[in-house]
Amino acid sequence: TPVVQVSNLRKVYHGRPALDGVDLTVAEGEVVVVLGPSGSGKSTLVRCIDQLEKIDGGAIYLDGELLGFAHRHGALRPLSEDDIAAQRRRMGMVFQQFNLFPHWTVLRNITEAAVAVHGMSKGAARERAETLLEKVGLPDKANAYPRQLSGGQQQRVAIARSVATRPRVLLFDEPTSALDPELVEEVLTVIKDLARSGLTMVVVTHEMEFARQVADRCVFMVDGKVVEQNTTEEFFEQP
Ligand code: ADP
Ligand code: ADP
Repeated sequence: TPVVQVSNLRKVYHGRPALDGVDLTVAEGEVVVVLGPSGSGKSTLVRCIDQLEKIDGGAIYLDGELLGFAHRHGALRPLSEDDIAAQRRRMGMVFQQFNLFPHWTVLRNITEAAVAVHGMSKGAARERAETLLEKVGLPDKANAYPRQLSGGQQQRVAIARSVATRPRVLLFDEPTSALDPELVEEVLTVIKDLARSGLTMVVVTHEMEFARQVADRCVFMVDGKVVEQNTTEEFFEQP
């Protein structure tokens, strides 16, 4: 079973399709990079997978389980918000704007969901957060507040938060687009390390060099459709 399967996905805004029959399969441990011009639907695709957007057609499966809907009495009905929240907890998402809580320390930003939502003990969550802070190169920032950090540091905290709960898949929506150019590399390096550690990922980015180095597969979107999908080697070999 693939970790993520997207089948004939449709999403319409004001009568205009942002996603027009998208198929995507992501296997365990695979890193898929989604490329394409601005407005082609990349962000909408990962937001639909994370159930931040309601879909208008098709289906999305996580580990073979249909997301957002259940078959009941012979019909497909939307799940309750609680059930959707439970499904969302099995995924991690990293946004362009880091979305950290400004009034919480770095440590609490990373541990809160693990403790409050996943029921991890405070001690275990803290230990995991400290390990993750080391991994993202911020071992001494546990007690800092987001505003005391650079954008690159904040994004690395957001990445640590997204993996703290051991998600089945990590979704990235242009994780370096809001950063000053000199901070991009430190964030890409952290994502590369996670990819090498075997995490399953879907990464929306404009960073072609990152795609070339890290992706197992590249998906190219235009106007809400996948127009090319290939191994990274083949993708970058073409004239
Ligand atoms: P990309 O990530 O490739 O830049 P998006 O997924 O953000 O593309 O957008 C795809 C299309 O859907 C664009 O035409 C965009 O304007 C439109 N769109 C995205 N989000 C919304 C929204 N919340 N309301 C209306 N239109 C939207
Ligand atoms: P990106 O290119 O990273 O997707 P955008 O600037 O296109 O970023 O979109 C930023 C936010 O605005 C997203 O939440 C998107 O859903 C929303 N959005 C994008 N296009 C439109 C639109 N035409 N109308 C309303 N909301 C939109």
